[in-house]
Amino acid sequence: MEHLRLTTELRSSSFDEEDLSINKERKREISLSSNLQTEKLTHLRLLDGSDTMLNQINKLLNKSRKIIVLTGAGISCNAGIPDFRSSKGLYESVKKEFPEVSIGSGKEMFDISLFRDEVKISVFATFMEKLYANVKLAQPTKTHKFIAHLKDRNKLLRCYTQNIDGLEENLGLEVSMKNETSKDKLNSKFNSTWKNFDVVQLHGDLNTLACTRCFHTFPWNRFWARSLRRGELPTCPECERKDLKRLQLGKRQIDNNIGFLRPNIVLYGENHPSGDLISQGLSLDILRGRPDFFIIMGTSLKVDGVKKVVRQMSKQVHERGGIVILINKTSVGDSSWNGVIDYQIWSDCDTWVTYLEDMIPDFFKTQKQIEKLRQLKRENSELKKKKLSSTIHTPPTTPTKIHELTSSNEIKIEEHKNELMSPEQSSDDEKKSPKKRSRKVIPKEGKIVKVKRNLKQKLNSSPKLLKAEAI
Ligand SMILES: [Zn+2]
Repeated sequence: MEHLRLTTELRSSSFDEEDLSINKERKREISLSSNLQTEKLTHLRLLDGSDTMLNQINKLLNKSRKIIVLTGAGISCNAGIPDFRSSKGLYESVKKEFPEVSIGSGKEMFDISLFRDEVKISVFATFMEKLYANVKLAQPTKTHKFIAHLKDRNKLLRCYTQNIDGLEENLGLEVSMKNETSKDKLNSKFNSTWKNFDVVQLHGDLNTLACTRCFHTFPWNRFWARSLRRGELPTCPECERKDLKRLQLGKRQIDNNIGFLRPNIVLYGENHPSGDLISQGLSLDILRGRPDFFIIMGTSLKVDGVKKVVRQMSKQVHERGGIVILINKTSVGDSSWNGVIDYQIWSDCDTWVTYLEDMIPDFFKTQKQIEKLRQLKRENSELKKKKLSSTIHTPPTTPTKIHELTSSNEIKIEEHKNELMSPEQSSDDEKKSPKKRSRKVIPKEGKIVKVKRNLKQKLNSSPKLLKAEAI
């Protein structure tokens, strides 16, 4: 029992010490990060002489606890998903398929205004089916895995993404806004529901279809995929069901009561159907999430709503002593981001993650590995304390003298001889302290052999002495 109590005390004491050291560490961290905040957006490259600055940023990242991530098309490029704004890829292939349709840019294919034109709707449907087929084949990139790793290490506060590919879900991350409607806002469990989301899709999800009228969502199926590929938007089964019910009840039929299914993504010029929920969740992250590091990856920050998110989040991160970094290969226009983004690291996102793996390998240990290391450290520390305590309580008797005998000091040999020749005392000691008994055996073989030889010479090989030595 005493042993157990001691262990518990040791543990609680070591936790207190840990708390104290965490506080000290936190103060150092805040002081370090405050030095790293910049008034002007600073540019860094992975392979030039900016290493000192990058090292400091890496150190801070390694210590941060609540990381906010914002991603854009740049993180999915290496998965083979094209940036729809670029003039290549899918947009070009659709343009070839519909040469008669005037579409100036890839961005136009994501603009709500296309719904005014039947031909453009057709192009949109074909384009979306191609994009969906592309996404279905894509695998998460190193950057997606990095985000999943942040979650594994309990360091991910939230990942906001402008991407509609949902690749994060392939890694087991919980993606929000898949089926929620504004009614969910009334849900009293909003806060706890929001906390379970890892990824918030700011521009919707390509992997589901949504009705243009009732906003009901459905997973894709082969029949609907074929329909979209032909350039036709399927009718909504939910609207059809309701319409049939009205008919059966003899109610008045309403014109255009049946909506069409389209990918559940947010187009330019339209509001996000879950916009209110996202705002509510964003406020929760800003006010209660305590974000201490903000990583923006693979985006040029062109969308107004996203710019607002960055400014709000950056303010909060800076107030908490953290910094904001952008990993991107193209410029975002410095002047508007001074005081908001501290550093732009000019790099491909996957390359940056590989660089981090080399620079801060500890950061990439899994939570399991970290916990195992902590446990080993705790056990080691307890063992050391126990050893120390047992050394303090052991009277300086025979072992020390045996050690001293190795110096061939004749007087000490005599003292030792007297002790060993007293069987009563020896036996009492053994009863009182079994540890002492074991310590007699512990001395190194070389030394004890020397002791034996000296004693043999002095005591003419007393059988009693040899017995005592053999213990
Ligand atoms: Zn519907």
